[in-house]
Amino acid sequence: MQTKILERMESDVRTYSRSFPTVFTKAQGARLHTEDGKSYIDFLAGAGTLNYGHNNPKIKQALVDYISSDGIVHGLDMWSEAKRDYLETLEEVIFKPRNLNYKVHLPGPTGTNAVEAAIRLARVATGRHHIVSFTNGFHGVTMGSLATTGNRKFREATGGIPTQGASFVPFDGYMGDHVDTLDYFEKLLGDNSGGLDRPAGVIIETVQGEGGINVAGLDWLKRLEQICRDHEILLIVDDIQAGCGRTGKFFSFEHAGITPDIITNSKSLSGYGLPFAHVLMRPELDKWKPGQYNGTFRGFALAFTTAAAAMREFWSNDVLERDVQRKGRIVEDRFQKIAAWLNEKGLSEKGHSASERGRGLMRGLDVGSGDVADKITAQAFKNGLIIETCGSDGQVIKCLCPLTISDEDLVEGLDILEASAKEALS
Ligand SMILES: *Cc1c(COP(=O)(O)O)cnc(C)c1O
Repeated sequence: MQTKILERMESDVRTYSRSFPTVFTKAQGARLHTEDGKSYIDFLAGAGTLNYGHNNPKIKQALVDYISSDGIVHGLDMWSEAKRDYLETLEEVIFKPRNLNYKVHLPGPTGTNAVEAAIRLARVATGRHHIVSFTNGFHGVTMGSLATTGNRKFREATGGIPTQGASFVPFDGYMGDHVDTLDYFEKLLGDNSGGLDRPAGVIIETVQGEGGINVAGLDWLKRLEQICRDHEILLIVDDIQAGCGRTGKFFSFEHAGITPDIITNSKSLSGYGLPFAHVLMRPELDKWKPGQYNGTFRGFALAFTTAAAAMREFWSNDVLERDVQRKGRIVEDRFQKIAAWLNEKGLSEKGHSASERGRGLMRGLDVGSGDVADKITAQAFKNGLIIETCGSDGQVIKCLCPLTISDEDLVEGLDILEASAKEALS
């Protein structure tokens, strides 16, 4: 395996190749293959970018057909057949059955591009500047998004330039099970001396992905929506990781029955791992002037094509939704079993019992410390499973397997994880 040029030329900023130091060549479904002939089960799936697996055959066919027909690949934000088909599919397959009505902003193709555009829109639409975010939130690392991202590691990488325009309030559960953190937020909003500038918007992940699979309660989310309505604050749901079916619904907020003013999607939106993002906004909020927010790669035609194919394939009925719930329970049961084993052996961090949490197939096994989690995931890699950690200390082992994973691969992956925990810690 030749890795010298990779180690020598790529910046030290690289991350995942440190956890998984091998050279990948091919991938199909939930399986990754390497140059030296090894096969891995993928429970990382591009941090939730490959919800429909690697090289999904139906989506691939749509892409190959489009390329073979000389379909337009780049045209700035000019109209294309691919864009029209994408918008039609989004409206027919996703919006209409859910009784939703949004306009679509196509910013640059990454998640942070969408978040930047969403918070800018909230400012333009309200004439206010302040954005409220939540502890452990992750919304991207460009300056505007970073201001709403909690993790110190990313915040310290600005070279000392302070981020601006946002402040944090505690996420659901941050103060323990018996405190409703929205009491604090609501009190601040109603207090002339609370020190909080009246926000333009609140940005939230309904299940925090990078922040540790922290799950906002459904009633808590409903109350957050109500507080936003009462105070005329825009509710922005960042569904970049939790969306596109990860929690068992196309939009993660559907479980709570809330209707955000602004939504961001990226990661699995193209359905194929192609870079793609959009911002959805209530039509009245579309205060943009033509060309006021631009970019060269606004709407990637190949991604329009794969995204539309993915929506037609997976969201025209509820087969995938039900499958995600079923598989989610399989992961939940096994994570509970591993947590119980860790607790019985007293192996999770002192004073912290291991536990599992999640919604749908977005699940975490909290082992109390990054050290313990790293030992388990490193052993898992040796045994043929790619799985990552998240949370403020990297203490949560995170399952983001493709939603379309076969039951055999799912169970084999969980077997590997359980055996690896035992091998690494006994
Ligand atoms: C990954 C992620 C982002 C940032 O997306 P990038 O494509 O990495 O810029 C923003 N919000 C959430 C919730 C994410 O998971």
